[in-house]
Amino acid sequence: MERFHHLINGVTAESTSGRFGPVYNPATGEQTGEVDMATVEETDAAVAAAAAAFPAWRATSLAVRSRLMYRFRELVDANRAEIARLISSQHGKTLPDADGEVARGLENIEFAAGVATATAGRFTEQASTGVDVYDIRQPLGVAVGITPFNFPAMVPLWMFPMAIAAGNTFVLKASEKDPAASLYIAELMQEAGFPPGVMNVLQGDRVAVERLLTHPDVKAVSFVGSTPVARYIHETANAHGKRVQALAGAKNHMLVLPDADLGLAADAAVNAGFGSAGERCMAIAVVVAVGHVADPLVGAIKERMSGLKVGPGDQPDTDMGPLVTAEHRERVAGYVAAGAEAGADVVVDGREIEFEGDGFYFGPTLIDRVTPSMTVYTDEIFGPVLSVVRVDTYEEAVKLIEDNKWGNGTAIFTRDGGAARQFVFDVDAGMVGVNVPIPVPVGYYSFGGWGESLFGDTHMYGPEGFKFWTRNKVVTSRWPDPATSTVDLGFPRND
Ligand code: NAD
Repeated sequence: MERFHHLINGVTAESTSGRFGPVYNPATGEQTGEVDMATVEETDAAVAAAAAAFPAWRATSLAVRSRLMYRFRELVDANRAEIARLISSQHGKTLPDADGEVARGLENIEFAAGVATATAGRFTEQASTGVDVYDIRQPLGVAVGITPFNFPAMVPLWMFPMAIAAGNTFVLKASEKDPAASLYIAELMQEAGFPPGVMNVLQGDRVAVERLLTHPDVKAVSFVGSTPVARYIHETANAHGKRVQALAGAKNHMLVLPDADLGLAADAAVNAGFGSAGERCMAIAVVVAVGHVADPLVGAIKERMSGLKVGPGDQPDTDMGPLVTAEHRERVAGYVAAGAEAGADVVVDGREIEFEGDGFYFGPTLIDRVTPSMTVYTDEIFGPVLSVVRVDTYEEAVKLIEDNKWGNGTAIFTRDGGAARQFVFDVDAGMVGVNVPIPVPVGYYSFGGWGESLFGDTHMYGPEGFKFWTRNKVVTSRWPDPATSTVDLGFPRND
């Protein structure tokens, strides 16, 4: 049984709490490890290590920070296959999905390595006679990241490379469900040569989180996870004077107009609905079919679903792995049952697929004729369940999206540029795809939703990430006229 401990001040720190959580391999259902659950004292030790490392780290030149970040990037890239293996073994997603997650994380390290450009301020000469004004961005101090199970490598990489490159020191409280990948990546930070205490990892649950949210030395909290926890994190950390960004749940809609390329739309719905078993905050959960496209679209999606192979994530022919836990699988099954009971048409029923062994498998599921009052529509299921809502007009579709409380990602499928442009203008969501079902911004833009998909005002990574992890200082300076100096500097004198 593998054990996952904290990483504090550059070394492994075993918990003394006596509390541990189980870690499973979702493909087999076996418990493969135990993860430490931090106490308040252990949490304080991680924050103290980060606080002690801060003065020297913020004084370290941008050139050195950037060089270390490049070295870290090379180590992550060189160990991609191992990171993907760790992700798949505890999350369940397929190896190509896991590798894709590392690739997206690498983009964030690359952006962070360009810290010198990202943090450059403005300079205004001669704002008043002899007066110059400029601004500089400075780090905040101890920064905290609290991350979800579904991207155990990528979401931490959304946060700490930027935070650290900007001069902060970091404490990561990763998900207790799949701790291996983020711990491994933090160890690569040590190997890259970051000083001890700059990057710390705390294993644990709400005990650690609650202490981090109220600890006086923590200056900023970045969170990604479910909406109820995000709301709580935002309120609590804000009440304790911290800067907070809390990215939350989602229910992403994909609007398909009657003129769409049907094959492209059906492929997109299948990939974005069932990739990573639907455990993605940018997964498509609802297909909104406008007018006569509904019947052929549902048929095309159903046909493609019959070709999906569900199995262990480390098998080369697997398209979709298991869900993360047995409890989560039961929860997903409950939503399908509730949808059927409420009168929706379960076209493909994931409950009916039989699997050998005790893995947490659930088959891809397609539910047609879903209405906005059904729980299958109102709740975030976070599993391989694709709902189809049929509407008559574009306006109805946009209104449906607007009325949904979340606003993470959305997409339109059409061949009409004018319709697509109008959708981009109209729609209430933070990230929009045009014939692209999962419009996750590249690393030099920023990621964030609207509505109940984000609490706070700053999006994650990219330029907004740097903004979040730094604060502005504006300097107004005046130097005496050198011609009036008491020492003869060689200027023509005017006294
Ligand atoms: P979660 O909210 O259960 O857990 C996230 C983190 O919060 C974990 O580190 C966990 O230990 C901690 N936590 C959980 N309950 C807590 C509590 N009561 N008090 C304090 N801390 C607590 O989320 P999850 O199940 O790990 O991840 C799935 C969720 O994350 C989905 O809702 C998904 O949409 C969301 N998500 C959002 C984004 C985004 O960018 N918006 C990205 C990925 C995942």
